Amino acid sequence: MTTSTASTSPGTGQSPEELFAEVCRQARSAARLASVEALLGWDEQTYLPPHGGGYRAEQAAALAELVHHARTDPAHGERIVRLADGPLGRSGPPEVAGTIRLLRRDFDKHARLPARLVGELAKTSVEAQQAWRAARAESSWGTFAPWLERMFALKREQAACQLPDRDPYDALMDDYEPDASWRAIATRFDGLRTALVGLVRDCTGAAAKPDATVLERRFPLEAQRRFVHEVAARIGFDFDRGRLDTTTHPFCTTVGPDDCRITTRWDERFLPTALYGVLHEAGHGLYEQGLPRDWFGLPPGEAASLGVHESQSRLWENLVGRSIAFWSWCFPLARQAFPEALADADAEHVQRALMAVKPSFIRVEADEVTYNLHVMLRFDLERAVVQGTLPVADLREAWNDRFERDFGLRPPSDAEGVLQDVHWAAGLIGYFPTYTVGNIFAAQLMHAAEGAMPGLDRDIAAGRFAGLLDWLRREVHAHGRLLGSERLVERATGGPVSEEWLVASLRRRYGAAHGL
Ligand code: ZN
Repeated sequence: MTTSTASTSPGTGQSPEELFAEVCRQARSAARLASVEALLGWDEQTYLPPHGGGYRAEQAAALAELVHHARTDPAHGERIVRLADGPLGRSGPPEVAGTIRLLRRDFDKHARLPARLVGELAKTSVEAQQAWRAARAESSWGTFAPWLERMFALKREQAACQLPDRDPYDALMDDYEPDASWRAIATRFDGLRTALVGLVRDCTGAAAKPDATVLERRFPLEAQRRFVHEVAARIGFDFDRGRLDTTTHPFCTTVGPDDCRITTRWDERFLPTALYGVLHEAGHGLYEQGLPRDWFGLPPGEAASLGVHESQSRLWENLVGRSIAFWSWCFPLARQAFPEALADADAEHVQRALMAVKPSFIRVEADEVTYNLHVMLRFDLERAVVQGTLPVADLREAWNDRFERDFGLRPPSDAEGVLQDVHWAAGLIGYFPTYTVGNIFAAQLMHAAEGAMPGLDRDIAAGRFAGLLDWLRREVHAHGRLLGSERLVERATGGPVSEEWLVASLRRRYGAAHGL
């Protein structure tokens, strides 16, 4: 027998532990490059001068190529397979075996994507987003539809390459909600939709509706900046490991284990824009800051899924931030910041104003109750396109018909209808359902947290958020990506994932605010 193959194959003679260390080194090195991508993306949205975009696109494309190359290096893949088939992969400590299993899963998915398709997706995404901006400004579906046609075709190709045995929509969702099945999600959404349509009808028909005008007074921006910064710090966002900036569309991105960036937008005439933008993104940020930092760049240091990520933002934004307990603590702070606007108001007044329910066309401006109806509409339509039962050409009519059925309104323009979101242009198909999955997880987690901490309301009313944050750190953040989203939530809450907790939470809180 010849020994030349064995002696030249990478890593020969290494112990499984040494091999694991080498695989982790390479995975962290790819993650380091990807984190530079995140920094460039953040800079593009915050401080990039208007004419800097052209060269930035070249920088981003060059980095994307390097990241893909690092992630799909065949020698790296070969080492992962050897590890997975060895003692550490089969029966190593849970963190190690889980890391190997997930690195193998990621490697296989990345490696099955031809470099040509990666390039085409990146290029089409930039071009389609430009076309989308122009089409939305003119409210012109006709000029954007061909781009959407192209993007959906590329995404179907991606699904067929990466997970050929799965339903194509499930394959696309896998990037955001690993192992999710559209059938299971559709079952939950159907139950939720029936309940929500009824709740919206009850709220909009209620005799005593919340009056939101107190939130539409003048809130000077300088005072808003200090106020939201203080609120984010008080719930636990660590400004020594993160920062807050201004963008058109709020987001949260992580640049390093001690560097989490959140953004918001401001409206002098509507306090909730900045405050709830920050509570939402700080909720994402608390999750990122709570992930095991020693595992940064590896699965135990990564978020479980976008649904779990969204559960953290929604929990702080809605379940904590819109509660009367929160406003008992927050109101004196708010009155100090805005003495004129809130001169004649009190905590109950402001909290109730935040609970107004009003069907509207734009998802990102929707109230908490109608929001999920916006998401479910997109979930059903994009799935039908991916699965080939709805031609892109018919998407606008399908959107308008469905909107009228669910909301009792017909979009007066494409900009207020099918053209409002950037997701499809950006290639984020299969992403929308994670918003409502996150709301479902959030309500179930909050219910469990309240059960585990009977004094939680009193703590929140006193501005003590550490108990809730510690619970989330322990039950959610500490597990990184090792458990998978459903198992993570089931383990934390002691029961199967169900939309019932969200229905009950919305009914209770919005029913009370509307005198139902
Ligand atoms: Zn979010």
